[in-house]
Amino acid sequence: MRQVDHFVVGGSSGGSGRKHQIWNPSTGEVQAEVALGDADLLARAVETAKRVQPEWAATNPQKRARVMFRFKELIEANMQELAELLSSEHGKVVDDAKGDVQRGLEVIEYACGIPQALKGEYTQGAGPGIDVYSMRQPLGIGAGITPFNFPAMIPMWMFGMAIAAGNAFILKPSERDPSVPMRLAELFLEAGAPEGLLQVVHGDKEMVDAILDHPDIAAISFVGSSDIAQYIYSRGTANAKRVQAFGGAKNHGIVMPDADLDQVVNDLSGAAFGSAGERCMALPVVVPVGEDTAERLKEKLIPAIHALRVGVSNDPDAHYGPVVTPEHKARIEGWIDTAEKEGAEVVIDGRGFSLQGHEKGFFVGPTLLDHVTPQMESYREEIFGPVLQIVRATDFEDALRLPSEHQYGNGVAIFTRNGHAAREFASRVNVGMVGINVPIPVPVSYHSFGGWKRSGFGDIDQYGMEGLKFWTKVKKVTQRWPDGGGDGSNAFVIPTMG
Ligand code: NAD
Repeated sequence: MRQVDHFVVGGSSGGSGRKHQIWNPSTGEVQAEVALGDADLLARAVETAKRVQPEWAATNPQKRARVMFRFKELIEANMQELAELLSSEHGKVVDDAKGDVQRGLEVIEYACGIPQALKGEYTQGAGPGIDVYSMRQPLGIGAGITPFNFPAMIPMWMFGMAIAAGNAFILKPSERDPSVPMRLAELFLEAGAPEGLLQVVHGDKEMVDAILDHPDIAAISFVGSSDIAQYIYSRGTANAKRVQAFGGAKNHGIVMPDADLDQVVNDLSGAAFGSAGERCMALPVVVPVGEDTAERLKEKLIPAIHALRVGVSNDPDAHYGPVVTPEHKARIEGWIDTAEKEGAEVVIDGRGFSLQGHEKGFFVGPTLLDHVTPQMESYREEIFGPVLQIVRATDFEDALRLPSEHQYGNGVAIFTRNGHAAREFASRVNVGMVGINVPIPVPVSYHSFGGWKRSGFGDIDQYGMEGLKFWTKVKKVTQRWPDGGGDGSNAFVIPTMG
């Protein structure tokens, strides 16, 4: 069986000896095993990082950017291989997997501009003969702990910015699909990065706790579910580390009566069901404003959902593939049971879905639930599957209140032809990322990504200038160069008392 090992200098001897199974979600078979590391393995990785980081930080930013450029080219050259590998472990279709790699690559492209971003600030003449300047310096060693659902993009969000800024980086990817992060680390080395600058350690809670407690790790970036995010934030900050921890989501799409419903249905087909709904920026809740809008929307949604093709992850015609594990399939179906018990109408039922020829795969059929209410647990919690819930709103204010009062505040979208309503919504909604006629408003790499409320713990967002802020600290220098007297004798004398 294929074995996935750690990517650390000096081999991966030691470790806990424990392993985790990696599924092929399309076939339902175990395709590989990944080693689970422990505190000793992490300690070795940190020692290596400490050795290589100072020289990397002293390498001029343009040379650091050149490594990023070569890495970018290598990712492009290996795009197909990366996407197929990703798809085989995650279950998302190959085109989606390419999108996963591509969105991470865009942050690497941004990181290629690091010399410009690191220029700092300067004030001449802040006082008589006094200048003040500030510079951004790396933190030292950064760590990233990432979820299963974007195994290429999210690691690149983190290490792209951290390393370009002069840090060494230790990545702990999801144990469910760790192979693409490993390939990225190999390609980064091939791009000319010093050995040990980017290391990958695998593991579960044991390894995560070791990262949280290691005194030489200065900062931790986490993306995953909210309870774990809160735990990471609390324990990491208690250990005096800088921490950003992004959590779960329940994004709403508000549909105003004047919206172009054909466009909305088209957008929802991708945003609610694409990647089997396993996206933190998916749109699993649609909020039609007014009964008439709800009925018109439902009528158009039903045939569109029936037309979705569920297939194995390398089926080029499939809209989406299997979910990641058998436990996750059971969890999603459990949420549909709960919704039904709570009184939601199961309009289209994806439970018990079986794909001919792949009966053991972890497939969930597309599901549509209507008459979902804010009191239902199935509404309040994240389902993270191909399930779209309709929550009917009476008017604009009612629709605005739903995402604003929800525990999660990652993304939200409004569909309307009315500029005033859209502007009002964007300014008042209590959510971090807003789309106006854009179903999945993930900001481009030169802006920044981050949700609010239980979707994001910590103050600084991912990538863009915010990412640079997270991975650097600012040093402020106030300088005065008194006149040396002009005769070369350096007449400046430090004043003394008396
Ligand atoms: P997860 O929380 O189960 O795992 C995330 C990471 O935490 C993994 O590396 C995992 O090994 C580790 N982990 C798991 N249990 C742990 C524990 N008890 N203690 C310490 N570490 C632990 O998340 P997941 O299922 O891999 O990913 C899906 C979740 O991530 C969803 O909730 C989704 O919304 C969220 N997500 C959020 C964003 C965002 O930007 N807000 C982006 C992508 C995914």
